[in-house]
Amino acid sequence: MKQPKNDLWALRHTAEHVLTQAMENLWPGKVIRAMGPATDEGFYFDFDVRGDLKVSEADFPKIEKEMKKIVNQNLPLIRKEISLEEARKLFADNLYKQEWLDGIEKKGEKATVYYMGSPELVEGFVDLCAGPHAKSTGEIKAFKLLKIAGAYWRGDEKNKMLTRIYGTAFFSQKELADYLTKIEEAKKRDHRKIGKELDLFSFHPEAPGDVFWHDKGYIVFKQLVEYWREIHEREGYQEVRTPEILIKRIWKQSGHLDNYIQKIYKVTTPDEKKWDMAVKPMNCNGGMLIYKTKQHSYRDLPLRIGELGVVHRYESSGELHGIIRPREFTQDDAHIYCRPDQIKQELKKIMDLCFEVYEKFGLELDHLELSTRPENSIGSDEAWERAESIMRQVLKEKNVEHQINEGDGAFYGPKFDFHLKDSIGRTWQCSTIQLDFAQPENFDLEYITEKGTKERPVMIHRVLYGSIERFLGILIENCAGAFPVWLSPVQTVILPITEKHVEYAQKVAAELKKAEIRAELDDSNQTLSYRIRQAELQKVPYILVVGDKEEKNKSINIRRRGKKKQEEQKLAEFMREIKKKISSRDLLL
Ligand code: ZN
Repeated sequence: MKQPKNDLWALRHTAEHVLTQAMENLWPGKVIRAMGPATDEGFYFDFDVRGDLKVSEADFPKIEKEMKKIVNQNLPLIRKEISLEEARKLFADNLYKQEWLDGIEKKGEKATVYYMGSPELVEGFVDLCAGPHAKSTGEIKAFKLLKIAGAYWRGDEKNKMLTRIYGTAFFSQKELADYLTKIEEAKKRDHRKIGKELDLFSFHPEAPGDVFWHDKGYIVFKQLVEYWREIHEREGYQEVRTPEILIKRIWKQSGHLDNYIQKIYKVTTPDEKKWDMAVKPMNCNGGMLIYKTKQHSYRDLPLRIGELGVVHRYESSGELHGIIRPREFTQDDAHIYCRPDQIKQELKKIMDLCFEVYEKFGLELDHLELSTRPENSIGSDEAWERAESIMRQVLKEKNVEHQINEGDGAFYGPKFDFHLKDSIGRTWQCSTIQLDFAQPENFDLEYITEKGTKERPVMIHRVLYGSIERFLGILIENCAGAFPVWLSPVQTVILPITEKHVEYAQKVAAELKKAEIRAELDDSNQTLSYRIRQAELQKVPYILVVGDKEEKNKSINIRRRGKKKQEEQKLAEFMREIKKKISSRDLLL
């Protein structure tokens, strides 16, 4: 049975203490404890390794053996609240704990410690920790150390580099085995690896964290854009484009300077000494300036305005993750300006569009989160309450499974976050829909009501893919690079059996290209089996082999990706089939 997240977290937290004790048993005085948490995937702990000691992954069997001993002792975990002075004394020789205690003192909180064994045992293990924990170490039925990495104390490069050990723990061996299979599978599907193998994109230190799209990757990118444009046109959206660099004042007006400054690229123009402009981290401000260029009547609303906006956000190097989390990306953004009575209907329409997109790509919604008012919010209490209440009603009426993510909304409004499940059971956040009463106020947006009075429109910010880059990264990992035919950078490869058949192969290739099918001819001087293998590695959906027989019959011999059977088919018939799959954006071959 699946255990609730909290119990699993507590278990992993306990495994982390077991790791710490094991390390100190093995190398007393040489490994100084810093800190470490339980995570979604397991746990990690940072150690300050002293002297000439080097701990590496080769030590894992030894550490795991020591951990197993502690687990088998089935030591109880005992929580104790102590005074700050006691805590200071208890960890007198540990600078990291002292620094942590400074934080506790500042917040006026109490120090809690957890003993493993018993508080009476002088030799017993004790650590500063908020918990919660498992009742005893014996509850850890399965654990494994995974990797070792360097990490700065508190993530700050100015601090000392510590040794971080990652591990995971479960309630059963079966769950651990499943998890290990999953991470093996995830490694094989890593989009950064596949991106290189399929020649889709690259990264360069000359633009850290930004994507360089190669021809093949950009073909897929453009397909996502084309599909996006098609459904938005159908749904009555306009498409605009706003500048990438805007003056500083407008970011102050929207609250970004106060709430988002750590992610903003500042720009100094040649005329100024100090930075006076900023690269946009979001498209909203430019969009609102367009809205204000004319007077709007209640009859014009809702106004749905899309923008494939290139934005920059300075993510820390630790947060960067290939094309899934770059610093520069293309949001498939849209802003909907509507009347209060239209909010519900618009939210529902966007949700439907989200579901349509997921289905198109074979992705499934895992769950939806309603993220509520954060600490650094702008706007009135009343506006926040109204927005959150409407969103709750929509969830109820749409009957969508959801969770509440307290305090994680945008600074200007609450939002829906859609988490998708991929083919190996991982979840990814993609679409978000944000309801915003604050920016129309900040930017003095208006429309004329039926009675001729002026009112503020409500603004809905939304992305479906999230960003094209991120969504494409998720797609690559979901299908392990084997794109459906409409997205495949190369849809067919034509292989002449011998030199004698090159001419016919060229004719086939020309005909496919004429019909706008992405076809490549491989008449290189390699054996047929080698060329077939190469095309298979490139995950080409259809490999077309041609020889005497095919030439005579105006046919091709098809190998469909992932299928053993080969078959001869008339070229004209094959072209009808593939064209149909491309135009309907079929998921299957
Ligand atoms: Zn926006």
